[in-house]
Amino acid sequence: MTPRLPPYSLPRYEYRKPPELAGSVPGEYPVAIAGAGLAGLTAALELGSRGIRTVLLDEDDTVGASGLSSRGICYAKRSLEIFDRFGIAERVRGKGVTWNDGEVYRGTERMYRFNLQAENDQKFPAFVNLQQFYVEEYLVARLQQTPAVDLRWKSKVVDVADGVVLKVETPDGAYDLRCRYLLACDGAHSAVRERIGMRDEQSELLESVWCIADVRMAGATDVVRRSYLDNPLNEGGAIWYHQMADGVWRTDWLITHYPDRDAEATPERAAARLRKLLGADAQFELIWVGPYRFRKRYLERMRAGPVFFLGDAAAQHSPFGARGGNRAIQDANNLGWKLALVLQGKAHADLLETYHEERHPAARECVEHATRSAVFIGPESAGQRLVRDAILDLAQRHAWARAWVNTGRLSVACVYGQSPLNIERGRFLFTTARPGAAAPDGRFGSGYLVEALGSDFKVAYFGERAEPDALLIRKGDPLWARYGVPDEGATYVFRPDGHVLARCTGIDGAFARGAMQRVLDYRVQA
Ligand SMILES: Cc1cc2nc3c(=O)[nH]c(=O)nc-3n(C[C@H](O)[C@H](O)[C@H](O)COP(=O)(O)OP(=O)(O)OC[C@H]3O[C@@H](n4cnc5c(N)ncnc54)[C@H](O)[C@@H]3O)c2cc1C
Repeated sequence: MTPRLPPYSLPRYEYRKPPELAGSVPGEYPVAIAGAGLAGLTAALELGSRGIRTVLLDEDDTVGASGLSSRGICYAKRSLEIFDRFGIAERVRGKGVTWNDGEVYRGTERMYRFNLQAENDQKFPAFVNLQQFYVEEYLVARLQQTPAVDLRWKSKVVDVADGVVLKVETPDGAYDLRCRYLLACDGAHSAVRERIGMRDEQSELLESVWCIADVRMAGATDVVRRSYLDNPLNEGGAIWYHQMADGVWRTDWLITHYPDRDAEATPERAAARLRKLLGADAQFELIWVGPYRFRKRYLERMRAGPVFFLGDAAAQHSPFGARGGNRAIQDANNLGWKLALVLQGKAHADLLETYHEERHPAARECVEHATRSAVFIGPESAGQRLVRDAILDLAQRHAWARAWVNTGRLSVACVYGQSPLNIERGRFLFTTARPGAAAPDGRFGSGYLVEALGSDFKVAYFGERAEPDALLIRKGDPLWARYGVPDEGATYVFRPDGHVLARCTGIDGAFARGAMQRVLDYRVQA
């Protein structure tokens, strides 16, 4: 069904005739990226900021996915840390709505309130809510200042031969583009994936049907995310309710249980339900209304030779937990530095295989979490409902049972616990900062640790002396506790994507250098 409301107003970007159709032959590009959504734009920034010549192709000439104006809204702390390296995190935070608190209701009764960020010494909050097209617009603006990236609008990838020769259609006709590596960031219906014939490890369309109603309400300021289970105002279905930029609220309504679901996804029905929720006199303006269902699927392999799959092209799942876009951004963050090192001749090409080894478990984890949440929120069988209701009964009586209430396990950085790159030596007090984890943040000097890590390898010594270029964290600093450092001190090595690569107890420069060299020399074990 097509929504009958005017869509958001989105920027239009200029199409320019590509050099291939203007008579020049640019030769092979080191990297081509199909699709300029969250995955493609972030990947282009990761590569372009490292000086890798990259061509980014998008079939559209605007931001936000075509036809579905309203999509992602919640951007997690980890994504903000990644964006910060490109100078756009503050723009996202400035425009968006920061939130750390949520409330869970059963029917109309509030069961509990939760806070996602106990520590107050972090550079970024647990989440910022912002319409996805704004985030994409800011990424595009940054790319326009990145000379290594050639961003081509109205450029549709229609075929892929030998993995690295693309056929691109434009308003001026079609041309062939040759590249050494191809990043398929072309979304859920990926043409690259279809052409190459990639197989899914799992694929299933879930039964639940939802209606999104984005609504503008003047004067409402509450930034708490509210999840209502079994709400009588929605004939017993769930309702989601939280704020984005411009005074607009995202409301999601489970409509599976209505006899005519199409009828429930119209602006008239959405407005009638909103009046019940907000009160008959409430003043609001509907911005966008439409139905959605979701598929759970992920690829068997995230790589086929020189072609890598990122974001929705690699996996899809329900939006509960706000994982799709945040996962796409982390995919790009994982692949960018590895590809740059290989193209610069500093690392062996085998390093690229660790993209699949690290991000495939991350995709599976997101699919599993998001599916369990979806089933909890909208049980699809009598058995699922029975278990879910028993958990809710318990949680209403006992605080400890709230951990089982699954209204979305919200996106956090994936831990590459099984990565072949990890090294650990000695006994640490906690596992929070173990190899594979994204570096926990905290105050460092006059700023934050995540800023000090930068975009390259970084060594941190927890002790009294450091080598030049390394970070020194003296005893008594709160970061000692956060990194589980024992009395004898420790050496930590961070990867260019801000994840912990290696750690050992004591101060050991040779250990740090060895860990970094091992990444550059990495070989897949036969
Ligand atoms: C209702 C809803 C709510 C959501 N909420 C959240 C949330 O709160 N947080 C979150 O993180 N995620 C959320 N998501 C998920 C998020 O929107 C997606 O996971 C994210 O958009 C994936 O980014 P992507 O770059 O992989 O793909 P897309 O955003 O789909 O981008 C693909 C790009 O490729 C282009 N393209 C497609 N085919 C071609 C081709 N053949 N040639 C050239 N270009 C092509 C398209 O024009 C598009 O620009 C939500 C999704 C939905 C539907």
